[in-house]
Amino acid sequence: YKNNIIRNQNNIVLKEKNHELLIAKNKAEKASKARAEFLSTVSHELRTPLNAINGITHLLMQEKPKKSQIGYLESLKFSGNYLSTFINEILEINKIESNKLEIEKISFNLKELMTNIKSSLIEMASSNNNEFILNVDEKIPTNLIGDPTKLAQIVMNLINNALKFTQNGQVKVMVNLSEIQNETTALLHFQVIDTGIGIPADKLQTVFESFSQGSVEVNRKYGGTGLGLTIVKKLVEILGGKIKLKSEVGKGSTFSFNLKFDITPVSEVSIEEVDE
Ligand code: ADP
Repeated sequence: YKNNIIRNQNNIVLKEKNHELLIAKNKAEKASKARAEFLSTVSHELRTPLNAINGITHLLMQEKPKKSQIGYLESLKFSGNYLSTFINEILEINKIESNKLEIEKISFNLKELMTNIKSSLIEMASSNNNEFILNVDEKIPTNLIGDPTKLAQIVMNLINNALKFTQNGQVKVMVNLSEIQNETTALLHFQVIDTGIGIPADKLQTVFESFSQGSVEVNRKYGGTGLGLTIVKKLVEILGGKIKLKSEVGKGSTFSFNLKFDITPVSEVSIEEVDE
């Protein structure tokens, strides 16, 4: 009888604990939702006047400013661009963390996508005097199904960093076919390899955390928000992959990840071919 009473009391305590935990969880979820909404509203509100500032700066720069004004306008342009990037990145992280990011599934040609990305960054490569090599495995099926916008965002971010932290060196982007599974899925291996400044061993994990940057000196010299790699890591994970980083100070860095893509069924391709 005594044991029963103790058991009942224990049960009551357990139920109360569970109830308290549930209340705490609900509170945390509400707080997190409120935080996400607040961040989103603030960021959107900041974006509108900032667009005006950036637009007017651009106009003023075209109006043949006096020599003494050019420096001020350059500085205004730099700060405006920095803030725009920062706000967009905060919005992006917020969207990812509140599970509001939708993943597309459309047919696309990987080689074309990668070539377009290369063209858009070629100027940046030459301004740092970097050789920029793109190597897309010929064995990769031409019609993949996936989210090309998010893939481009990941790859562009990594190449941007590679080109930014490398001077008079080489940036090599490689996409290889690792495996075709059941004739329906292609497993691809992406690598962005640079011969730049490298990342110290104790920073290899933390560079993926928000606002984490290399050393103070690196940050001062190269600028940036410290949010790019946070977004890259989250996007790769959302698409079902995992990002890896190997690096050696003074020698360079290699960022790599695997992603799976469905392959457009052969029948759909052959219909197009018949039409031609
Ligand atoms: P940032 O906007 O500062 O570049 P990221 O999140 O993209 O932010 O990168 C975080 C930090 O990781 C950078 O500040 C830099 O110190 C380091 N980093 C990223 N990519 C490279 C690279 N390819 N080579 C050397 N350091 C890098």
